[in-house]
Amino acid sequence: MKDSTMLNETHNPQLRSWVASAQQPGTDFPLQNLPHCVFRRRGSTEPWRGGVAIGDAILDMAAAHAQGVFGAAADTAAQAASAGTLNGLMALGPQAWSALRLALSRLLRDSAPETARLQPCLVAQADAEYAVPAQIGDYTDFLTSQYHALNAGRIFQPQAALPPNFKWLPIGYHGRASSVAISGTGVLRPQGQNRAPDAAMPVFGPTAKLDYELELGIFVGPGNPRGTAIALDAAEDHVFGICLLNDWSARDVQAWESVPLGPFMAKNFLTSVSPWIVTLEALAPYRTALPRAVDDPAPLGYLQSASVQGIDIQLEAWLTPAGSRQGTRLSRTSYRHAYWSVAHMLAHHSSNGCNLQTGDLLGTGTQSGPEPGEEGCLLELTRGGQVPLRLPDGTERGYLQDGDSLLLRGWCEREGQARIGFGECRGTVLPAREI
Ligand code: MN
Repeated sequence: MKDSTMLNETHNPQLRSWVASAQQPGTDFPLQNLPHCVFRRRGSTEPWRGGVAIGDAILDMAAAHAQGVFGAAADTAAQAASAGTLNGLMALGPQAWSALRLALSRLLRDSAPETARLQPCLVAQADAEYAVPAQIGDYTDFLTSQYHALNAGRIFQPQAALPPNFKWLPIGYHGRASSVAISGTGVLRPQGQNRAPDAAMPVFGPTAKLDYELELGIFVGPGNPRGTAIALDAAEDHVFGICLLNDWSARDVQAWESVPLGPFMAKNFLTSVSPWIVTLEALAPYRTALPRAVDDPAPLGYLQSASVQGIDIQLEAWLTPAGSRQGTRLSRTSYRHAYWSVAHMLAHHSSNGCNLQTGDLLGTGTQSGPEPGEEGCLLELTRGGQVPLRLPDGTERGYLQDGDSLLLRGWCEREGQARIGFGECRGTVLPAREI
């Protein structure tokens, strides 16, 4: 087991890269980050291959590996990181990921002797297009924010408290892997069935309550055989890294269909993920204590550990209407408010012997915080559409309109540490069409 909260030389905030843009203030991709993606030159028929972000460039891992610069300890991982999906890299586990991170950090440092050989392996991010970075076998979405659970519950029942199970287990449902798509994919307004509260019968048509959900996605590294469980204290060894995730939701469909079995057609039409997967090791400087009130129940044994931590990831959602250049920030919160950690999600998911597989995607659920403005979706922000937001162009939004572009951002910063970011997760709403 490897301690994913321990700092090492790759986190040193003084490190500088020979890629000058990695030193740009506010960049998401300084040398301390080194997230992975799958990419090719935009509009080309080049093969998809793995890349690593540095400044405003991508280190083409296939080209870099061909230079033979990675050394024995990291060569296998470097080769896996150059493939058209990252499942092979994800399967290798924390020691291999860490060896690759160390090699990349040394190769990209400003005095690295390999500079001249690696310079031709850079591709501008501005010239790239991205693919979903793993073959995702299964996608599971959780509900780990108590503020989202409370705010959303109160829209339907003003006196609602947290569900009675919330502080005992990370609530989740099985989502749909086939419709997980890369950032930038158009968001076709889905058709669906819904029933107005006092209507005699439901109707089928375009959703009128299209929403976003500000979430993080977790990519599973090594899985567990069916019939075994992942122990809480070992769970982070099974986590490759984290991306931004937008769980687009049709709230009118959701309200009608969800009792008694939970979300189905309201969410399975599209889930957007950002191209970059930030490794857990890169996130080590930003770990936080989990929020627990003194009178909260002690979790059951398999969900109890003194060493499990949260992560302080700053999160934002921005809306830009069609034809407008001005975006409006809708949400700003932090993942540090999540009640259940990434490790809890994996430990609970496998606690009945369910086998997680390499490349599986887990969603954290909508992330909301305690203060106004920290609500992670329009359902909460507009109280179910009842209190529309006024945008700078004078229009109002209860829910998303056709042409609206939604942007998720995430980053980590802490005194004495580098600032690292997650890039962007975008989507523009397209008008419904007959299917
Ligand atoms: Mn969700």
